[in-house]
Amino acid sequence: MSRALSSSSSPRCLDQRSPKHSLAAPICRASRFRISASRKIQVASTVDRRCFASAPPESFSVVNVDLGDRSYPIYIGSGLLDNSDLIRKHVPGRTALVVTNETIAPLYLERTVAALESSGELRVEVVILPDGEQHKNIDVLMRIFDKALEAQLDRQTTFVALGGGVIGDMTGFAAASYQRGVHFMQIPTTVMSMVDSSVGGKTGVNHPAGKNMIGAFYQPRCVLVDIDTLETLPDREFSSGLAEVVKYGLIRDDEFFEWQEANVEKLMAREAATLIHAIEKSCINKAEVVALDEREGGVRATLNLGHTFGHAIETGLGYGEWLHGEAVSVGIIMAAFMSERLGWIDQSIFNRTKTLLEKCKLPVQVPSLMTKQLFMNLMAIDKKSDNGRVRLILLRGELGGCVFTGEFDRLKLEETLDNYVTSG
Ligand code: NAD
Ligand code: MG
Repeated sequence: MSRALSSSSSPRCLDQRSPKHSLAAPICRASRFRISASRKIQVASTVDRRCFASAPPESFSVVNVDLGDRSYPIYIGSGLLDNSDLIRKHVPGRTALVVTNETIAPLYLERTVAALESSGELRVEVVILPDGEQHKNIDVLMRIFDKALEAQLDRQTTFVALGGGVIGDMTGFAAASYQRGVHFMQIPTTVMSMVDSSVGGKTGVNHPAGKNMIGAFYQPRCVLVDIDTLETLPDREFSSGLAEVVKYGLIRDDEFFEWQEANVEKLMAREAATLIHAIEKSCINKAEVVALDEREGGVRATLNLGHTFGHAIETGLGYGEWLHGEAVSVGIIMAAFMSERLGWIDQSIFNRTKTLLEKCKLPVQVPSLMTKQLFMNLMAIDKKSDNGRVRLILLRGELGGCVFTGEFDRLKLEETLDNYVTSG
């Protein structure tokens, strides 16, 4: 089923071009690609055809994440929430538990449950969690287990995450651990979860001492992206997710970056075909990286472009002040600035990055509360640090190339912070 992508979609292999940077992540290409994207046309089911004889067939694209026996499809299209055949295909047992939150439930829960129940053979249970990152913890997770046990759900059950990254991460971890693992399906409803968190199997909850500190790698049986759900997403959340989309172009896909430059107005207008393309290309890029390095031994770290600066901002300001993608946007621009100062990229790449982020209505200035010392302290405890030595994903070479390295002139990091930090 899989087929190699055309070379035009190939990421750049920067470590080969800069062997002196021995810590550079092994970004390898072409021959190892195992992800495929294909356009599929789905005709309405027998029942649907009878009821909606004049309805046009739905079309959606499929990105296959190839992880051996844990491989799964990502379906991307419009109207998929009502596609009961597609949804039921990935629910093998006789029960399902839909996990969502108070904000999403009134919008999309009824349709999701109806699609699951359409065949009449599935008992569908529901648990509605409070909304917000502050509820991504063990106590709230317990409510999922409480519901599953109360409803006597067995090992053949399927947990369905309906929501953004918070719901996806929590439901995935619950699915990984309930009775040592049950089936799991993701229905992401934010840009962030469609292009990033629902792909790759990282699940978990926060601990008071650190974000995402308790969790597991656990892959879903499928991801169903219905872009229509983005109609209700607030503008700020929408833009936040686009920071990760810009990131994919910068770290490994120059053509995708150029496409974004040309289509950013349509993207911001949430035009359906443009959204589908942006999500599809993002998922392909993430899936390729995950297939190469599922447990983040090397190349997966490059998905963290801008995140070391960004996490410092998120932590420094206190979680919830800035959205993740907003902090990442500033982090990306700082990484691009530093790369340019190191002489690793042309200034035009920095300029184009800044312009694109601004058009996505994302911030490109460090918030005034952040001091240089705060940055230094918080960056030193980043998960990617090596014995206290900061390691960064930096841009290098042509557009679409990056390295993960701790080998850079420290003065350029200082210079970057001096340039961006406005308070003492
Ligand atoms: P979120 O899940 O908190 O959703 C953002 C807000 O939008 C919430 O208030 C939510 O209720 C609301 N919402 C969601 N969908 C909506 C819709 N269609 N219409 C209206 N409102 C809607 O935030 P997020 O940005 O989706 O995800 C952030 C979380 O994802 C963080 O916890 C982060 O750690 C995690 N994450 C995980 C990974 C991973 O690889 N697992 C990657 C990136 C982020
Ligand atoms: Mg991120």
